[in-house]
Amino acid sequence: AVPLVVAKSTALSAKHGLLIKNRTAFENARKITTVVFDKTGTLTVGKFEVSKIVPLQKELDERELIRLASSLEQNSEHPIATGILQKVKDLKITIPMAENFKAITGQGVEATVGGQKIMVVSPGYLKENKLTIPDGFTADDTETVVFVIIGKELAGYIALSDEVRPESAEAVKTLKQENIKSILLTGDNSKVAASVSKTLGMDSFIAEVLPHQKLEKIKELQSKGEFVAMTGDGVNDAPALAQADIGIAVGSGSDIAAETAGIVLVNSNPKDIVSLILFGKATYRKMI
Ligand code: ADP
Ligand code: MG
Repeated sequence: AVPLVVAKSTALSAKHGLLIKNRTAFENARKITTVVFDKTGTLTVGKFEVSKIVPLQKELDERELIRLASSLEQNSEHPIATGILQKVKDLKITIPMAENFKAITGQGVEATVGGQKIMVVSPGYLKENKLTIPDGFTADDTETVVFVIIGKELAGYIALSDEVRPESAEAVKTLKQENIKSILLTGDNSKVAASVSKTLGMDSFIAEVLPHQKLEKIKELQSKGEFVAMTGDGVNDAPALAQADIGIAVGSGSDIAAETAGIVLVNSNPKDIVSLILFGKATYRKMI
């Protein structure tokens, strides 16, 4: 039987775009010691704007570089892809066809364009594949950078910027008042992660993590005695959401994330996540 207070809370929460799929998850809210937040679209607005297009080969100009990148990105739903496609639209560039498209989860995309193999990837992918980041490479600490590879050669990079949500700092502050730590977990580069984490006054950040590593990071925190709530929106977050003591799928992200999580929030506003935790605490406090 579902205790009345829980039934009431569940109904109430539905009104707020909150779907509690697993009641134990909600019940456990009062035990949380750490909230692990994903970055893009949760702590940030999730709207990337292209700020730099930098070709690194003589025969390439900015338009050609982003034209090639857009060919791949038209097949991707990542916020980075949306940002690149918007820029191409603004520049009135016609997007070429891509064949054999493949997403490399958490690292980028690849396809064949005009007979050439093209990739658009993260700095982490470059490191792993021993491609050196060129001299003269510059990006602000707040910029997300993706690299374009043609064949096996580094052809250039595109920098994009996203904005921190105005509500995020307050959410982190409220958690702190409740003695709950906030940690940022992201596949994006360390500089961006450090900058967001510092701006928001978070306890720490874990950056450049590949999808399978997200799960390991949650386990690590749990083995240190933390009771972990985690937010995520993507397919690549699903295993970690399942591992967390409370998985919170946010936004209109992937169905897989929503299936694995104990709680689904229609909005990805960090303030709602905090309310949900406080709400869970208050509900069960009444029952003790
Ligand atoms: P997050 O943890 O912020 O959700 P993801 O795991 O989705 O990040 O992506 C990690 C990194 O992989 C991005 O910062 C980017 O460098 C790269 N990446 C992922 N998808 C794409 C894409 N469609 N185009 C270019 N780069 C991508
Ligand atoms: Mg994501």
